[in-house]
Amino acid sequence: MVIVMAPDAGPSDVTAVVTRVEAAGGEAFVSRGVSRTIIGLIGDVDVFAGLNLSAMRGVGNVTRISTSYKLVSREHHPDRSVVHVRGVPIGPGTVTLIAGPCAVETPEQTLAAARMAQAAGATLLRGGAFKPRTSPYSFQGLGEAGLKMLANVREETGLPIVTEVVGAHEVDLVAEYADMLQVGTRNMQNFALLQAVGAVGKPVMLKRGMNATIEEWLMAAEYIAQRGNLGIVLCERGIRTFETATRNTLDVSAVPVAQRLSHLPVIVDPSHSGGRRDLVLPLARAGIVAGADGLIVDVHPQPDVALCDGPQALVAADLGELSRAIDDLTFYMGRLPSRRRFPRAS
Ligand code: PEP
Ligand code: MN
Repeated sequence: MVIVMAPDAGPSDVTAVVTRVEAAGGEAFVSRGVSRTIIGLIGDVDVFAGLNLSAMRGVGNVTRISTSYKLVSREHHPDRSVVHVRGVPIGPGTVTLIAGPCAVETPEQTLAAARMAQAAGATLLRGGAFKPRTSPYSFQGLGEAGLKMLANVREETGLPIVTEVVGAHEVDLVAEYADMLQVGTRNMQNFALLQAVGAVGKPVMLKRGMNATIEEWLMAAEYIAQRGNLGIVLCERGIRTFETATRNTLDVSAVPVAQRLSHLPVIVDPSHSGGRRDLVLPLARAGIVAGADGLIVDVHPQPDVALCDGPQALVAADLGELSRAIDDLTFYMGRLPSRRRFPRAS
């Protein structure tokens, strides 16, 4: 069951609802959004039905939702949401480009990648300081030193930072620097991490687990929402299939399906799905045309010497085409056309 409080409900109204629910043996999770407060209830719905919650002061409406996720569902919130990352919107109406290096390696490499990202029209900078690598012998990231480099580059370029947090114990540290916390595919069902990022109150990008169904992905998002954080962006980054020609298979259908089931924005990662530079542009196009609210793309000034994911990183020469594809397809999809950054070849 979900209770949406009226816009003018005060803290004492929320407390009164929580007290009544808890007294009846239920649990109440309060999510405070920018414009309204939502209370998700866990327990016996028949008992809740007898509490006459809809008559309480400050209660807007009470919905009985039987799905395994509630706060992130469209049943509960029919309009699609926009998530703001330091003022940058992600959601319906635009296509937001997040770009940057897979991993932060040096201050020079991070700044050069950020400049490339900006030239392609990116409004958010990605870059991993804590890297979740499949092999323990691969580069694991620079940790806090990498976060500091990102913060310096933000200072220099004005681009807010999206960066991954790998463990629950590192959430506070990463949140000190990040504008948006990324939860990677390998951690989609790390429930302690999801709860920790939910509690910290910064926007979260939740990548789809490479073996996860869309429903499992939404239930993972619900863990974050249940801790009071509805600033969640879903990211489709490819799933495991029998196909070996690509690193993962971009599940284009996941974009409209997730958007129909959930009000959260859905973006696509064409870099980690294909795992190959030559596939980034076609997959980016497919994502936009399927209705994605944004893209997250790897770029690197020198992919040949990249410490992580060089083969999929875009180089400067690719960016004009990416930028034009975003402009043209964004317009075609009836979204806000972004500024034309690269002259069109005549
Ligand atoms: C990344 O974006 O750097 C990353 C590791 O992605 P994924 O979790 O999708 O593999
Ligand atoms: Mn990567």
